Amino acid sequence: MHTIRAAGNFQSCNLVLDKIDGLKLRRLAKLILMTVREALAEGRFAMKGSHTPELDTALLLANACKLDREHLYMRLSESLDNTIVKEYRLSVKRRISGEPVAWIIGRKEFWGRDFSVGPGVLCPRPDTEALIEAALKTMDEYGSKARLHDCCCGPGTLALTLAAEQPGWSISASDISSIAEQYFERNNQSISNGNVKYFRSNLLENVPGQFEIIVSNPPYLTPAEFSQRKKLKWKEPALALDGGDHDGLNVIRRLIPYAWAKTTKNGTLLLETSPTQMHEVLRLLSDAGFKNIQYRDDLGGIPRVAIAKKELA
Ligand code: GLN
Repeated sequence: MHTIRAAGNFQSCNLVLDKIDGLKLRRLAKLILMTVREALAEGRFAMKGSHTPELDTALLLANACKLDREHLYMRLSESLDNTIVKEYRLSVKRRISGEPVAWIIGRKEFWGRDFSVGPGVLCPRPDTEALIEAALKTMDEYGSKARLHDCCCGPGTLALTLAAEQPGWSISASDISSIAEQYFERNNQSISNGNVKYFRSNLLENVPGQFEIIVSNPPYLTPAEFSQRKKLKWKEPALALDGGDHDGLNVIRRLIPYAWAKTTKNGTLLLETSPTQMHEVLRLLSDAGFKNIQYRDDLGGIPRVAIAKKELA
């Protein structure tokens, strides 16, 4: 009988049963121990309220088994060590309580790299790839050795991806959250060899210097959208998601004048926002004096990134 065991757990009852080697005991063990297939079915049933129960259970069980999903699916009939089942059931409970899978397994892939994430920090989202694409194109216009700052950096999604893609640039990042800072520093080491300078700051208040490019994925959900997520038991922090004011644009309204002051005279600002706010955000940028204002769609084909240039003679 094959059993997927928790790493290093040599005390497990399965091992004892293996040693006894009696046919009856082995059959008994097969009855007692849960197979991968059964554990997945149990998890799917428990999570029937979720949008993606199949994917979530597979990710959580694969994580408990220290396997990737593909290998887990190749071992559906194998029995699971009780320690693994315990850990898996605990993670299913956390998921049902509203924690994102990424928090539970401690990582989220973004632009081909693993970001460390956990309770209290915003998980990188595919929507944000649109901003990376636009920022990389903009960086090409300036050449290397220019400066870029990521305001509201969370776990470092934008700053660290861009630093890894464009190592010649001088890149810094800031966030108001102390929890985000811990994840940022961990990711800074693993993704960019600690090369990105971090500032704890309310928007750009404590950030020194001027930048050719400022990027930001600030909180921009409307209070109504945010409370809707709360009702659905989402746990990601208001600090990272709730944009404030009736329209979710309070943070963006405060950020734009800061960005104007902190960009060089040929500087560019790239902002993530929601499709419903795009029109208003483009207007705010124009009112602040920015020129050449454009937007880009995300992977879902909806407006997601506002791009504006300073263009002072
Ligand atoms: N796009 C994110 C979401 O819908 C919101 C991110 C943000 O507020 N910065 O969850």
